[in-house]
Amino acid sequence: FPEKEKAAPVAKIKVVVRKRPLNKKEITKKEEDIIDIEQRSNSLTVHETKLKVDLTEYVEKHEFVFDAVLDEDVSNDEVYRETVEPVVPAIFNRTKATCFAYGQTGSGKTYTMRPLPLKASQDILRLMHHTYRNQGFQLFVSFFEIYGGKLFDLLNDRRCKLCMREDGKQKVCIVGLQEYRVSDVETIQELIERGSATRSTGTTGANEESSRSHAILQLAIKKRVDGNDSKPPRPVGKLSFIDLAGSERGADTTDNDKQTRIEGAEINKSLLALKECIRALDNDQTHIPFRGSKLTEVLRDSFIGDSRTVMISCISPSSGSCEHTLNTLRYADRVK
Ligand code: ADP
Ligand code: MG
Repeated sequence: FPEKEKAAPVAKIKVVVRKRPLNKKEITKKEEDIIDIEQRSNSLTVHETKLKVDLTEYVEKHEFVFDAVLDEDVSNDEVYRETVEPVVPAIFNRTKATCFAYGQTGSGKTYTMRPLPLKASQDILRLMHHTYRNQGFQLFVSFFEIYGGKLFDLLNDRRCKLCMREDGKQKVCIVGLQEYRVSDVETIQELIERGSATRSTGTTGANEESSRSHAILQLAIKKRVDGNDSKPPRPVGKLSFIDLAGSERGADTTDNDKQTRIEGAEINKSLLALKECIRALDNDQTHIPFRGSKLTEVLRDSFIGDSRTVMISCISPSSGSCEHTLNTLRYADRVK
């Protein structure tokens, strides 16, 4: 194995909040920006308007501190530098790193997440071709989603349903998942676009669907065994990007539609299980409660051993989203 990277130590769990700008719709509805960000102190204040019993308004302030708070003018490049870039070298050293985007539908999860795998693979390929040249490293891409507790391959034209199996050695195996070996950025870009398109159209063609599924893109580093191409390469490290289902969907548990209720319950369960797993990781607990949901089961091998977790909590600045925003920040606060 290559020598341990001499870079500064990277925190095991990092929680970052990203605020997006007010959009046209919110401005038209005269909604206000209720989020103040102070980047220097990594703090953020929510100004919540409430009513007294006599119906006069007053503002309640809620202050939060995170590892980083990113204001609306922060670019996707800066988001990458703040979140994923520091963990990239470690995946050549058996580390499993996972980056989540959490937040209500419309808060900017997909906007934030979509460019990250591409930027990361550029860095990975650069390391492979220079620092780790001729060391037999290979890069693989897979992309799938969890919808209603079931797995679907996003790089398979038929969005085929997948099963998960454990191999008894604490390794999860997703049977039939397409894994593409890639060696240039263009191919990766094409795969990301293909998978994203498959996701958002889903089975019904409604954009709505993507807010009910978790999309998981994985970049796996493997190494040829004894320079031998006839043997399967050995897994080394992994970088996973997870565009989570809209956090407000977890509350769809009393909806009139039965399917919506079932999906809401599944989303709720998975987001709770995820929080518990990250907290367990942070406390170095030996028991990680990954069996709580399909999402955490699939991520099982990313929760054991040398792991890094980055949670990007996306929030809308608008007064109309205050309740969802507070829920998102409280969730992030529990993970931190
Ligand atoms: P989500 O995936 O959480 O449902 P999206 O990423 O689709 O939300 O974002 C909703 C809309 O807001 C999109 O039109 C997106 O382009 C825009 N948006 C999100 N975040 C930002 C940002 N930081 N800057 C500018 N536009 C943004
Ligand atoms: Mg989205």
